[in-house]
Amino acid sequence: MYSSLIDQAAEACVQATKGVALTGAGISVESGIPPFRGKGGLWEKIDPMKYAHIDMLVNNPVEVWEVLFLGIAELLTTAVPNAGHLGLQRLEQMGILQTIITQNVDGLHQKAGSSDVIEFHGTHAMLRCMGCHVRSDWQSVSMDRIPPVCPCGAYLRPDVVMFGEPIDVGLLRRSQILAANCDVMLVIGTSATVEPAAYLPLIAKDRGAFIIEINPEPTPLTNRISDITLLGPAGEMMDRIVAAMDKRRAGA
Ligand code: NAD
Ligand code: ZN
Repeated sequence: MYSSLIDQAAEACVQATKGVALTGAGISVESGIPPFRGKGGLWEKIDPMKYAHIDMLVNNPVEVWEVLFLGIAELLTTAVPNAGHLGLQRLEQMGILQTIITQNVDGLHQKAGSSDVIEFHGTHAMLRCMGCHVRSDWQSVSMDRIPPVCPCGAYLRPDVVMFGEPIDVGLLRRSQILAANCDVMLVIGTSATVEPAAYLPLIAKDRGAFIIEINPEPTPLTNRISDITLLGPAGEMMDRIVAAMDKRRAGA
C-alpha cells in the first residue's frame, strides 16, 4: 500500500516539468530544528507562537531576543540539510522542480543547492533595523548588547515575517502565479494552517495540478486537496520517491 503510493508520487514527478514545492517547518525537523507547533525540546518551556508575534517584539524586545531569536540563531549555526532538502534539489537537477516556496527562515534549501527559493517568511540569516530598515548580517553586528542596536540608534531584529506582519506583496504575487501554473505541487512539512501560504495548494489544485503531501500528521489538505498524502517524515519519504524515480528513469 505504502510502496504503491510512493510509486504514484514518483510517476507524477517523472512526468512533471513545472513542479513547485511548498515547504514548512516540518522539512527541517530531521535537521534538528523543531517546529513551533507540536512537541519539540526547545519549545517545551515557552510558547513560540506567543513570542513570534510582532506585538510581543514591539512590547518586549529583550525577552523575544533572549528567548526566541538567540535560540533559533544557535540552532541554525549547526543545522545541515537533510534528505528532504537534498531530494528537492535532485528534482530541480532532473528538470522537474522549478521553484521552492518555503515558509522556513533557516536557509537549508539554499545550503542543499536549490537555486530558486522564495523565502515567504524572510530569513533569519539577516538582521533588519526596526527604525531605518537597513539590513545587515549577523557577523557585522555587535552582540554585546541584546537587542543589538543599529548605528541609527534603533533596535535590530532578524529579517523574518512574524505573526501579525504582512507577506511581501511581490513574493506573494510570484508564489500565486507559480502555484497557478505548476503541474505538480509537493506540500512538505507544513500544517497548511498559516495563511496566505496555506492557500497556495488550493490555487494549484483548482488549476489542475497534482498535489503530493508529505507530513507525519494529517492536515486540512489531507483527503480533500491532496491527491496523495504520504504520512511520514520528509527525509525518508523524499528518499523513497527519488529512489522510485531513479528506478523508472533507468527503465527498471
Ligand atoms: P507548521 O504550521 O507548518 O507546522 C509544522 C508541520 O510539520 C506540522 O504539520 C507537523 O506535523 C509537520 N512535521 C513534523 N515533523 C515532520 C517531519 N519529520 N517531516 C515532515 N513534516 C513534519 O509550522 P510551525 O512549526 O507552526 O511554524 C510556523 C512558522 O514559524 C513557519 O511558517 C516559519 O515561518 C516559522 N518557523 C520556521 C522554522 C524553520 O525555519 N525551520 C522552524 C519553526 C518555525
Ligand atoms: Zn537603523
